[in-house]
Amino acid sequence: MSAVQPEHPTVISGIGVSPGRVVAPAVLMPDPVAEPPSGRRLPPGTDYAAEAKRIGQASEVVRAELDAAADRAEGDSADVLHATAAIAADPSLVEDAEQRVLTDRLVPERAVWEAAEAVAAQFEALGGYFAERTQDIADVRDRLVAHLTGRPAPGVPAHEAPFVLVAADLAPAIVATLDTTRVLAIVTGTGGPTSHTAILARARGIPTVVAARGAEAVVHAEGLVLVDGSAGTVTVDPTDDQVAAARALADQVRTFDGHGRTSDGHAVALLANVGDPSDAAPAAAAGAEGIGLFRTEFGFLGRTEAPTIDEQVAAYREVLSAFPGRKVVVRTLDAGADKPLPFLTDDHEVNPALGVRGLRTAVRHPEVLQDQLTAIARAAEQERAEVWVMAPMVSTVDEAEQFVASCTKHGLDVAGVMIEVPSAALLAGPILAHAAFASIGTNDLTQYTMAADRLLGAVAELSDPWQPAVLHLVAAACAGGAQQGRPVGVCGEAAANPALAAVLVGLGVSSLSMTPRALPDVAALLAATTFDECRRLAQLALAASSAADARSIVRAALPVLDELGL
Ligand code: PEP
Ligand code: MG
Repeated sequence: MSAVQPEHPTVISGIGVSPGRVVAPAVLMPDPVAEPPSGRRLPPGTDYAAEAKRIGQASEVVRAELDAAADRAEGDSADVLHATAAIAADPSLVEDAEQRVLTDRLVPERAVWEAAEAVAAQFEALGGYFAERTQDIADVRDRLVAHLTGRPAPGVPAHEAPFVLVAADLAPAIVATLDTTRVLAIVTGTGGPTSHTAILARARGIPTVVAARGAEAVVHAEGLVLVDGSAGTVTVDPTDDQVAAARALADQVRTFDGHGRTSDGHAVALLANVGDPSDAAPAAAAGAEGIGLFRTEFGFLGRTEAPTIDEQVAAYREVLSAFPGRKVVVRTLDAGADKPLPFLTDDHEVNPALGVRGLRTAVRHPEVLQDQLTAIARAAEQERAEVWVMAPMVSTVDEAEQFVASCTKHGLDVAGVMIEVPSAALLAGPILAHAAFASIGTNDLTQYTMAADRLLGAVAELSDPWQPAVLHLVAAACAGGAQQGRPVGVCGEAAANPALAAVLVGLGVSSLSMTPRALPDVAALLAATTFDECRRLAQLALAASSAADARSIVRAALPVLDELGL
């Protein structure tokens, strides 16, 4: 029993973006290191030599910290940390910074900042491997500045026991490299549910609540917090009963039997989203009934030219081979906006999310799409999966018709479209007169319906697939599908939220595609809910006047969520 407990622990509400309940001490992420003001100088009479010496001492401490972190890490991470430690110990960086203190009288932190910029510029000019190290120089610079100004070191703090990471915001790159045996849950004060931070957290199975306003201020370091990544709540100093209940639920290991259905037997195919081809086999092992979204652009990212047809065939075969006899929906390249490709994307667009992205790229670079369709067709011939192909960012009936015609020319007979733009949802009927199926990308559909950048924390409340306007468009898309007798699924992040999944089924979608980790929870909720209940929940959500109301009304109508710990 803990000694003193408040009767009513503080509960911060945010948006749950990755399910699971965790109770652990909080560790606060330090604020990023700010650039010391330019021209800040030491006052006359300062012992300049002593100030300059502090830089060498700081570099020793930072090098030792990084080497110690490298010793605790393994494989690639250890190599990266050792290489960064070497930059911290680099005498030219230290000497340059010392010189700026001695001759320019700069405060040591400003001197380090400027010296690091100079080194980074040299590395940049050298190109290749060196240019790739500029991020490490910035990391060393920030650590030196933090040390010299007496602030906590930037980045995820070292902490012995596993913890909940609480931050104002968190870059996707940090989430991608978090050690999941130590970071048990994430809470951010800002951030949107469809940002890549949220998508990565979900893919990595880290229970996460974003947009938990003020969490960084309310949560105290080392204090116990209960994070509920499904309900989107953060309970500060939970009671013993709450802790016991959360731990009991966390101990339940749920699996998926590979058959999505409601409690009265209405089938809902539960499929997996994959990016890297190596994700496909684990998705099959997790029981996925097929792949509902293969984000092929993952194979193009970071490349200066498109992968060859042979390279693409090999990547696609890896995915198809994991699902013999089952459906694999291959999405053609979705480049542009937040996934720019140097050889395709015009980086001078003022509004890239509204620019040449997705299928629009193919109009400018038809050869890239033709090569990709050739590769998909070849891979399909060599494997036994049932291959469906779909285009991202379709906005008009003409685009759908042309895409289907291109697929047909390549012998790809099941050609569909993603519905991510409101125009496509509203015209789903005429679009599906051409396309064999539709898959709703709720991440972008939400972004474009609400005019809210999916990457921007400041508009996180708008960027929420529970927004009734988004759900009305999902209903319109399903009506278009019903009109043409074509299946309509969902492959955006909304499909991975159990309560919202029930609403989507009630709106008429026939398949839900999600990160494989979400399959057991979504399956459990559907298996405990009748199809009629799903339809009633859909009506409740459509009638709500806000996303928050839709979410809370539906959750209140689904007491089984609590029983299942969802
Ligand atoms: C979507 O927009 O919902 C989607 C599935 O595509 P992506 O997240 O890759 O843009
Ligand atoms: Mg999209």
